[in-house]
Amino acid sequence: QTLGDNFEATVAKFPDREAVVMPHQNIRWTYRRFNDEIDRVARGLLARGYQKGDRIGVWAPNLIEWILVQFATAKLGVIQVNINPAYRSNELAYALRQSGCRGIVAARQFKTSNYVKMISEIRADVPDLKETIFIDDPGQPADWAQLLADGERIPRSEIAARMKTLDRNDAINIQYTSGTTGAPKGATLSHRNILNNAYFDGVCQNFSENDRFCVPVPFYHCAGMVCGNLLCASFGATLVVPAPAFDPGATLKAIEQERCTGAMCVPTMFIAMMAHPDFEKTDKSSLRTGTIGGSPCPVEVMKRLVTDFHMPEVEIIYGMTETSPVSAQTGPDDPIEKRVGSVGRAHPHVEIRIAHPDTGQTCDYDETGEFQTRGYSVMLGYWNDEKRTKDTITSDGWMRTGDLGVMDEQGFVNIVGRIKDMIIRGGENVYPVEVEGFLYTHPDIRDVQVIGVPDEKFGEEVMACVIMKDGRPPLTYDAMKAFCKDQLAHYKIPRYLEVVTEYPMTVTGKVRKVEMREQAVKRLG
Ligand code: ATP
Ligand code: MG
Repeated sequence: QTLGDNFEATVAKFPDREAVVMPHQNIRWTYRRFNDEIDRVARGLLARGYQKGDRIGVWAPNLIEWILVQFATAKLGVIQVNINPAYRSNELAYALRQSGCRGIVAARQFKTSNYVKMISEIRADVPDLKETIFIDDPGQPADWAQLLADGERIPRSEIAARMKTLDRNDAINIQYTSGTTGAPKGATLSHRNILNNAYFDGVCQNFSENDRFCVPVPFYHCAGMVCGNLLCASFGATLVVPAPAFDPGATLKAIEQERCTGAMCVPTMFIAMMAHPDFEKTDKSSLRTGTIGGSPCPVEVMKRLVTDFHMPEVEIIYGMTETSPVSAQTGPDDPIEKRVGSVGRAHPHVEIRIAHPDTGQTCDYDETGEFQTRGYSVMLGYWNDEKRTKDTITSDGWMRTGDLGVMDEQGFVNIVGRIKDMIIRGGENVYPVEVEGFLYTHPDIRDVQVIGVPDEKFGEEVMACVIMKDGRPPLTYDAMKAFCKDQLAHYKIPRYLEVVTEYPMTVTGKVRKVEMREQAVKRLG
C-alpha cells in the first residue's frame, strides 16, 4: 500500500467522521471533505506539471495547506520537502538547492520572518526553483486559489491513474534533521517507512477512530507529520491542531474544548503547559493517552503527566527523523518505573541493539553503547549524499543514531545522551541527562540543562543552566552544591551554575546545546 491508498481506505471507511479541526483557520472537516480538498490540490499540482519524483518544498507553520500538500503529493508521488519554519534565507537556499525543489508552497510570513522577502532574496541562487505558491492572506495576490482554479481542468480520475504508478518503496518525503548537532541532513523517507511507523505508533497506543489527538508540535518535523497527521489519518481519528505554532494556552484550551483523548509534545511543551496559569482550571478529564519524545523526558515530568495532566496511558517515544521517526516506545502495560524512566522497548517489526561505537560489537545488558536500529523504518538515505549515508547506516543495515543507550535484560532502553554531548571530565564520563534528572527534583527549579565547558585541568567541566519556577529566588551555587552533596558522585556535581530565563531553542522545542556551550564559553572568557 502507498500512503494515498491507505488514506483513501480510511475515507471510504469513515467518510462522515471528523478528520481535522483547526480553530485558527475555522476548519472542521469530515474525512470526505478533507479528501475532496486534498484532491483539489493534487489536481492543481498536476495542472502545473508536477510529476512523480519532482520535489516541492513546504515552508509554513501548522496550517491546513501544509497537510493538504502532504497528502496531495503522496497521491501523486511528488516528493515533499519539509522546510523548517525558523530557517533564515541561507538555510532555506541550502535546503531548496540541495533537494532540487522545483516549487515551494510558503506562508507569507511567520512570527517576525517575512517569507516573501526571504524567498525573493534567494531566488537567483536556486535556479531549479520555478515557482512559489504563497498561501493566501487577505488583500494579497491569491496564489493558492489560483492553484486550485488551475486544477479544475484536470479530471479527478487522473489522480487515481497516477496512484497506480506508485510503489511503496518510492521516496515521498525529504526532511532536514533538526540541526541540533550541526548542518541539517536531508533524510529521505518512503511511503513504507512513514506509513508503517504511524500505524505501529497507533497500535502501541491502542489507537482507534474514536481518538481525538491534539498536535501542537510542528508538522514540518517527522514526529508531527507521522505521529500526528498520519497517525490520525491511518486510524480515522480526529486531528486537533490548536494553533499555527506552539502556544501553551491555546493547546490547553483545545484539549478541553475538543475533548481530546491524547496529545503529543516534546518535554519542553508539556513543561510549559504545566506552568501555565490556565493549567489547573483546564478540564483534562477526556485525556487517556499521549506521546512524549524528541529529547530526554525527566522522570518527574513523566510522573506529573500521569497524575496532574490526567494521561494515565502516556507513552515515551524515542526516535529520529532518519528512522521515520519512532524506534522504541513504552506501553501502558509496562511497569510504571519503566514507563516513566525508560524509552521502552523495540517498536513492532524493528530491531534495536546497543553497540560499541568503535567496534560495532553488540554490548552486554546494562552496558552503555550506541543505540542502533534496523528494519523497515530506516530511511532510504540522505538525499544526494552517499557519503554521509554510508557513514550512518552500516553495511548490514544498522542505523547509527549517535545516541548513547543502555538496555536491560527485559529489553527496556535508557537513553543516556548523545555521543557528542557526553562530558568527559578528567577521564570520567558524565552524562548530562543524569545530572539534569537529579537537579530537576529540586523544588525551585523549573527546567535544567547541563553542558560541558572546556577546562584546563580536567579537559571538560560540568555546567548547569537552570530556569527557576516563577517567584522562586535564584539558586545560589552553594545551595546547589549542598543539594547535590552525597547524592551525586563528586565529579558529576556541576562546577558552574548559571540561572537563566530561557535557552536557545530549535522550532521543534529542543535546546540547542551547541549554541548554549558557545555562549557559555564566551561568558566564562
Ligand atoms: P540533528 O541530527 O540535525 O543534529 P536532531 O538529532 O535533534 O538534529 P531529530 O531527528 O529531530 O534531530 O531528533 C532525534 C534525536 O532526538 C535523537 O537522536 C535523540 O538524541 C533525541 N531524542 C528523541 N527522542 C528522545 C527520547 N525519548 N529521549 C531522549 N532523547 C530523544
Ligand atoms: Mg540527529
